[in-house]
Amino acid sequence: MKRTTSQEIAALLGPTGPLAAAMANFECRTGQQEMAKAAAEVIQEGGILLVEAGTGTGKSLAYLTPAVLRAVEKEEKVVVSTNTINLQEQLLYKDIPFVKKHLAPDLISCLVKGWRNYLCLYRYWSLSREVQGKLALAKEEGENSDFRALDEWVRRTSEGSLSEWAKEPEWWPELCAESDLCLREDCPYKEKCFVMRARAQMEAAHLLVVNHYLLLADAAVRRVLGYHSEKAVLPAYSHLIMDEAHHVKDAAVNYMGVSLSEYAVTRLLNRLHRPGRKGNRGLLALISAALTAPAAKEATEMIVRQCLPALNQLEDAAHKFFVAVRAWFTAGEGTEREQNPSAKRIKPGRSLDRWRHEVLPPALELEKRSIQLELSLKELGQAAQPHMKENQSYCRELDLLSARFGELGQLVRHLGEVGEAETAYWVESDRRGQRLKVTATPLDVAPFLAEWLSHVDSVVLTSATLAIAKSFTYMAASLGLKESGHDVHEVLIDSPFDYRRQVLLSVPLDIPDPNHPSYPDALAAGVSELLKASRGRAFVLFTSYALLRRVAAAIAPLCREEGWPLYIQGENSRHHMLEGFKAGNSVLLGTDSFWEGVDVPGEALSSVILTRLPFRVPDNPYYEAFAEALKKKGGDPFYEYAMPEAVLKLKQGFGRLVRTRTDKGTVIICDNRILKRSYGAYFRQSLPECSSFQGSLAEVCLRVKEWLQS
Ligand code: SF4
Repeated sequence: MKRTTSQEIAALLGPTGPLAAAMANFECRTGQQEMAKAAAEVIQEGGILLVEAGTGTGKSLAYLTPAVLRAVEKEEKVVVSTNTINLQEQLLYKDIPFVKKHLAPDLISCLVKGWRNYLCLYRYWSLSREVQGKLALAKEEGENSDFRALDEWVRRTSEGSLSEWAKEPEWWPELCAESDLCLREDCPYKEKCFVMRARAQMEAAHLLVVNHYLLLADAAVRRVLGYHSEKAVLPAYSHLIMDEAHHVKDAAVNYMGVSLSEYAVTRLLNRLHRPGRKGNRGLLALISAALTAPAAKEATEMIVRQCLPALNQLEDAAHKFFVAVRAWFTAGEGTEREQNPSAKRIKPGRSLDRWRHEVLPPALELEKRSIQLELSLKELGQAAQPHMKENQSYCRELDLLSARFGELGQLVRHLGEVGEAETAYWVESDRRGQRLKVTATPLDVAPFLAEWLSHVDSVVLTSATLAIAKSFTYMAASLGLKESGHDVHEVLIDSPFDYRRQVLLSVPLDIPDPNHPSYPDALAAGVSELLKASRGRAFVLFTSYALLRRVAAAIAPLCREEGWPLYIQGENSRHHMLEGFKAGNSVLLGTDSFWEGVDVPGEALSSVILTRLPFRVPDNPYYEAFAEALKKKGGDPFYEYAMPEAVLKLKQGFGRLVRTRTDKGTVIICDNRILKRSYGAYFRQSLPECSSFQGSLAEVCLRVKEWLQS
């Protein structure tokens, strides 16, 4: 088949191309064509492309066009990975169908979800069989309606996917599929299995849409099993496109780590044995019920004499381990924050000494009990197998579960010893402070990313925010791109929007430095004045909840008086807040997740107030350890990590304002460090060139008013 050249691909997106002919309002953009050409060259010749494309470039069509044509022409697989569901939906329901219809009718694409998104039929039927009748499988009477809904759903679902439920059912973790516990060829339900069906679709598809977390989970499995393993999460692929690529490092940090939570241990134990008022449940109960032959007496007794005691000892050891972890976690020097932390790093020095003194002994005991249970289960498997001709799948499941307990032992020792250099260790609790999780993550994920990417033919990384002051140095280094052995190409594409005409960027000089004690009050007063100038219609973005709450309390009377609906993050769902905000004249106060991925075109959003430069909270355990290690190596954590990350985030926040060519509004940065500190230049040079103004708060308000009325 003829290969489409990069020039031809760019022409497909041009004024005389098929896409322009197919769509009356198709907008031809030179930036989009430039990006498509660069992506086509990398996809055809191999290598890595880093491409920052400003808002409105039309990035997705620019990479989909060459990727789809290559995949169909050469029968090669392409993976497109995103950070958000919003972008996945845009690709799946808008862009991919459009490209398929007009450029590649033979294209087969599919959305890939993780295993835990599907019901495991084996687990469902095992659980159902434990008691007479499916509805009776409820643990308590009150759960009957829940299980009735499950039963009805299993009968009618064709995908078996969690997304078919408005909210995750409580029983889902007990019944979802898990890769390492899947019986695969030994499963009696493999023909009907939802996961296997989804995997078959994946194998047949040219284009797979995934999220970064699944992509990195796949990479982590390949790292252990080999880069061409058939047992990875995704099928082998040749080309990779990572959109919203500024999130890839965080996803890698999450996936390269290991963690142990109270919840995970409880779930694992429950899978084996759950005592209940209506009798025992779990795999041991199923095996016990299946061992009816008199010759199986030895195996039956093994359950009672060996496995259940080993399980109880492990349960007890796990309890003591987490009691010790909790005591270590909550022992503070006195302040409320120290006594109720959300995350706490196990640092070299006193903190580590205490950990080793208080937590290591119960960790070693838990390791011992895990190994003991692993061995008991293995022995049970050997003794039971000859008597389980009808239920071989139970023996297979027992094998897999015993391996899990072995892994649990290794993990506990690793986390208990806190022995590895170049690794960050910490403990965190859930929101209610009830469940604890211990985590270890390598400090530098770049070597892993480099190794992984070296096995992919071509890689396109794109986002509206990848460069710092027009340089990709930070992004390329943090993702290990140069070490991957690929040629790395860099392209910067300006937004097609006319920012000079569309955006006024202002800095009120008399709001004090954010580190000054008077800043919170001055900010609250300033935000009130700025809202009057824009008549509501504003996003106010924060880096901390504490400051958000303070400003919310200060502006609430004004919003009530003026009749501006006020949406405060934490009080409502994100979806509800955004839908309400779009109705007009509203004010929305948000932190982290509202700095990006939010699209409000039109006058409803006329002003974006960025309260301070978005440096990450310094007490995040991973980043604290990362910065410390960087310093030890002679690096500068501020310039080499904190500042570039804050620049990328500021660019995202700025990008909320203008979403179309007709949008017009103001961005106000209430942090004068952007002008007064030397590093401020990096922030300023990283934003699009727009109209700007500096002055007192009163002058800024006047200018904002004029700008919005002009
Ligand atoms: S094949 Fe695996 S995931 Fe599918 S039903 Fe069987 S055990 Fe569950």
